Amino acid sequence: MIRTGIGYDLHATDSDRPLVLGGVHLSEGPGLRGHSDADIVLHALTDAVLGAAGLGDIGDLFPDTDPRYKDADSAMFIAAAVRQATHAGFRINNADLVVHAERPKLGPHKATIRDRIAELLGIPPGRVNVKATTNERLGPVGTGQAMACTAIVTLEDDA
Ligand code: MG
Repeated sequence: MIRTGIGYDLHATDSDRPLVLGGVHLSEGPGLRGHSDADIVLHALTDAVLGAAGLGDIGDLFPDTDPRYKDADSAMFIAAAVRQATHAGFRINNADLVVHAERPKLGPHKATIRDRIAELLGIPPGRVNVKATTNERLGPVGTGQAMACTAIVTLEDDA
């Protein structure tokens, strides 16, 4: 059986923090505000994996009130989601993502982010697709106050 899951996340920008997208530290800013490393890509991806597996959401697993997750590397969130989905009998088929950001320009980083996501999901890079879009200067993303990510993941039943 094929199952799909969707994930979405948005964080406010914060020029005093580093920018981490898809587990990749980018030298260009601004960064993102959040309890963990604020990696919107891995948060959306985690929710997509959990959603496809019917396992709830990232807030159920990792409450942002828990001091253990302060400045946490979000790779631990996606690793836990993959572990739980695998334990529940699913294999990850593919992931597709849209990063919504006015700046920095993500074109030069898409391949690096794709490769890191593939590594975190344990699938070949050809099964991961990363897209980037601006919001045409409209709304909180378009005015640079926030960045967001939408992710979709397909799982296959192992049975
Ligand atoms: Mg988040």
